[in-house]
Amino acid sequence: MKENNQKLPRWDLSRLYKSVSDPKIKEDLATYKKLTTNFAAKYKGKIAKLNAKEMFEMFELLERLEKICIKLWRFFYLKETENYKNIKVGSAKIHAQLQNIESNILFYKNEIVAIPENKLCSLLKNKKLREYLPALKYLRRHRAHKVSDVIKNILSKKDETSFTGWLRLYNQSFAKLRFRIGNKEYSNPELWALFNKVNGKKRKEINNERQRVYADNADFFAYLYNMIIRDQKIEANIYKFDSILAKVNFDNQVDDKTVELLLQTVNDSYKNISQRFFKLKARLLGVSKIPYWDAHLQLDLIQPKRYNWNEAKVIILSAYKEFSPELYKIVKNFFDNRVIDAEVRAGKRDTAFACPVPTIWGAYLSLQFTGTRSNVAVLAHELGHASHFTFLKQQKILNNNSSIFLCEVPSTFGAFLTLRKLLDFVKSDLEKLEILMSQIQQMINDSLYTALFHNFEIRAHQEINKGMISAEHLAQIFQEERSKYFGSTVNLMDKPNHEWLSFPTCFFHPCYCYSYSFASGIVQSLYKVYQEKLVPDFEEKYLKLLSESGVKDYQELLKPFGLDVNQKDFWQKGLNLISDYLDEAEELSQVVVLS
Ligand SMILES: [Zn+2]
Repeated sequence: MKENNQKLPRWDLSRLYKSVSDPKIKEDLATYKKLTTNFAAKYKGKIAKLNAKEMFEMFELLERLEKICIKLWRFFYLKETENYKNIKVGSAKIHAQLQNIESNILFYKNEIVAIPENKLCSLLKNKKLREYLPALKYLRRHRAHKVSDVIKNILSKKDETSFTGWLRLYNQSFAKLRFRIGNKEYSNPELWALFNKVNGKKRKEINNERQRVYADNADFFAYLYNMIIRDQKIEANIYKFDSILAKVNFDNQVDDKTVELLLQTVNDSYKNISQRFFKLKARLLGVSKIPYWDAHLQLDLIQPKRYNWNEAKVIILSAYKEFSPELYKIVKNFFDNRVIDAEVRAGKRDTAFACPVPTIWGAYLSLQFTGTRSNVAVLAHELGHASHFTFLKQQKILNNNSSIFLCEVPSTFGAFLTLRKLLDFVKSDLEKLEILMSQIQQMINDSLYTALFHNFEIRAHQEINKGMISAEHLAQIFQEERSKYFGSTVNLMDKPNHEWLSFPTCFFHPCYCYSYSFASGIVQSLYKVYQEKLVPDFEEKYLKLLSESGVKDYQELLKPFGLDVNQKDFWQKGLNLISDYLDEAEELSQVVVLS
């Protein structure tokens, strides 16, 4: 407990505004309103007729508007996360006001999409206008999938009673599920909290009750699932996509073929990675088989060590320093400049985040630091995001449409570096083994477990496209996919169960799960290349990747590292990083078991 009483840093938001009643807020809002009104008067219906110089001026004005809006928006957002109970902050009101004002200028997007290609090409001969080429390219991508304003309007109005309506029903119904253990009733989050605290026999009882409740409600959730998938398929078709997956791939800016290659490689790795991991886990637990409800439970080999703030800082900074003195300076600045809120407080947002604020030199970070190992990793992760934002500051805001696959590169890379440092700091082999096992588990979750869901979704969607599919059929598909992932060490029990209905991503973002696997594959390959030391000037190239990630295509950015996402080799490299860690854990487990 001593560590918890240490003085933890808080951020200073006065660089943005002195307080929520700072008169500068009213001034900025008024300026924003005035400039957007001017923008609409000057450009509405006229964008196609602008010459290159005028179009450049229009973008400069948009850039200015964006800066004012983001500064206001983020200040109130950050204020709100300090204490959600403090409604006086009034962030909802400000956000609604900003959205309302912004809606007056959104016409520019459609007007830019509508400019004929040859006209735009000739405009782009102008060097100044080409500064906004990434923003233009990004907007123009939607040309092939444009629908008329009438259809768009109908879809947006009907959304409330279709997709969004179904999702609200899912949320409400799932939240209402109640589970009875002894003579007490539990909600799903309460049941999980209990599950993580009790012994193996009790966990079995909890799982049985969970499965009973899921089975009682499975027909209802299967109907919802069918409706949601059919609704999304219809919408994808209206936007001229063959499937939901094709639309997700388009939004993710990735080719269908690349995604196929990733999944093929991941599916081929189950035996060597996830199945091998569960075998090792069973051995460490001293059992021959693990029941499926215990498979992802964190291993508890040793009394966990607590880190105080200074220790965490030293580990993280030395990890970054060893990799790159330049990155180290940036990360150190975050510690020195009062932009981190690490205090543990009631009412504060409990998930960690790094929030970019382009008008200052980087970002604000928030986490509740209780000194666990996972806190140290989370801090290193968020500092990775924050340093990325510092690099992106060199780019124009409108150009910054970073591929979602690159967003997690700096954070995960930073966490990988920190993990290595942490292993150096730790003296006990048992603790090292526990750190490695938890890291492998995390990587398997991100890379392989998410692919399992993708496989489930693709098969389920194929069946739904032919007609309605039953809850039992969904359970069967889920069971088959799970058994490939777990292998024979994990006991799935004989009867397929309805665990599938408890994963909201499959309902809320159909076909999105693979994105996690994709993003992890990229950073794992990159880190593996770094470890191999075969690419000269890795650090310099890596920093260039960070600073150009908003404006260049991710494939182009990976080229200097000799990496190509369209090669099976590439995905294999990333997976090899996980098997390297597994080798290390297996080796260490021999030492630990023998001693
Ligand atoms: Zn992240």
